[in-house]
Amino acid sequence: MDSVQHWGAVRVYLGDKSGKYPDGNQVIVQGAELRVAFDTPLVANRIGPDFDEVDLVILGHVHEDHMAGLHRVPRAGVQVHEADLAAAQSWAGLCAHYGYAQPVLDELHGMIVADFHYQPRPDATAYTDGTVWDLGAGVRVRAHHLPGHTSGHCALVVESEGVAFIGDIDLTGFGPYYGDATSSLQ
Ligand SMILES: [Zn+2]
Repeated sequence: MDSVQHWGAVRVYLGDKSGKYPDGNQVIVQGAELRVAFDTPLVANRIGPDFDEVDLVILGHVHEDHMAGLHRVPRAGVQVHEADLAAAQSWAGLCAHYGYAQPVLDELHGMIVADFHYQPRPDATAYTDGTVWDLGAGVRVRAHHLPGHTSGHCALVVESEGVAFIGDIDLTGFGPYYGDATSSLQ
């Protein structure tokens, strides 16, 4: 079993290399009324009911390595910042998000289906900067729009626990990635 860490209502299942690409860390936030997953990295496929029975997935942004568990939770709601919504809803939207030439996209599609269980979520809905989710019993999450990595990239802050999920704002030797059509270093 993968390692799991607890901060009050927040559980973190560590990915294969503690969050390094391609396997992120799975954050699950448990309220009295709702259980929410932040993103769905590859490790989501190795957790079991704690992930498979979530009520809602809040995507901090859209990239293939953050959607790798969505195929397991077809009945859960999926929400994403409005600027990344089209990329979550369809392959055409994700193509525009990446912005590569079509032959590259064709090859990429096969790779992300094989390696990341890629499925679009046409049922996904949008949130905006400052959206608050009340999960029950005082457990509260707020979205902070921090664009750049993608145009819709957000930090998800569990205010009741003082925990910030900063997604792919990554201060490692690999560096933050700003190579997509909707990315902006500024
Ligand atoms: Zn990313």
